[in-house]
Amino acid sequence: MDQNEPRNRPLSQIGAIGIIAILTFALLASGRLPAQDGGTFYFTVTSDPHSGYSRFSRLCDAINKHLGGAGAFHVTAGDLVGSIAKNRAIIDRYFGRAALWYPVVGNHDLDKPKELEWLRNEYENGNKLRSPISERIKNRGPAGSSRTTYSWDHRNAHFIVLNVYWNGDANEGNGRENGSDTAGEGDIVPALLKWLAADLAANDKPFIFVFGHEPAFPWERHVGDSLDAYKENRDAFWRLLESAGVTAYVCGHTHYYSVRRGDAGNIGNVWQIGAGSAGKNDDGQTFLQFIVGSREVSLNVYRNAGTGSFRKTAYLKLKSVKQPLPDLMETAVHP
Ligand SMILES: [Zn+2]
Repeated sequence: MDQNEPRNRPLSQIGAIGIIAILTFALLASGRLPAQDGGTFYFTVTSDPHSGYSRFSRLCDAINKHLGGAGAFHVTAGDLVGSIAKNRAIIDRYFGRAALWYPVVGNHDLDKPKELEWLRNEYENGNKLRSPISERIKNRGPAGSSRTTYSWDHRNAHFIVLNVYWNGDANEGNGRENGSDTAGEGDIVPALLKWLAADLAANDKPFIFVFGHEPAFPWERHVGDSLDAYKENRDAFWRLLESAGVTAYVCGHTHYYSVRRGDAGNIGNVWQIGAGSAGKNDDGQTFLQFIVGSREVSLNVYRNAGTGSFRKTAYLKLKSVKQPLPDLMETAVHP
């Protein structure tokens, strides 16, 4: 080894590329980067705020302190009641009234017709307060779930929100008793799978994120009564995600943060990321920062373990389109 390389080399000779690489890594690892910087952007995810308004407020405040904002948009993976409007008011307060928020329907959001109506209106007319979600979508959901299932593109990534409670019929419901987008239990019914397959087939982006409230492979709670209650449909769903090269399926429902890949069942290359809870205290509160670069996707996980202050607990490289995927991880990660 040449003793002058690389230790004694002056910084000025390392070269611009090396410095940029170091700076980029430092930015990624710190979580601090502009919402959109060249080809790179980030978005943030929470789940299950329920009526934990003060916890959700502290979490949004921590997003601002750690990341400098919610990024290109924020997604919350379901169970948005008590009042969805109150949780949106917290988004307004911390991220601004024009902040883009994609609310995913959860099982508790189906209990009150008024709250479901809020979700449908948010899609249709932004509840007359914001630009509607419908203006930003690429693909509207199937008839019967056309305002709670949809997809959109952002830069080099494709995003899909699923209403996993749609039972496949063509008429929207009103309350749990009647109607197709409210009547089902968490299940990827064949009609939803068919819509999803067509949506994925039309996608040309290298990175794909799918959001649904219930995990396919639940952790800690709701084992056996999440999407895994209908194993055949769950397995067909997961095979589709695998074959389409989906980067991650992001969900909530259990209130426990978990990251799974390559372990039991049919989990292969697709990550299942349980976003924990933003308002319940079973497992403290959690927020996620996904960083989408031109060639790779990474994830910063921030948690507070039920105490007041959030800290980063994990940094994971999720996918690279330049290099082959690493060997499958052997088990779940749950720091
Ligand atoms: Zn739930």
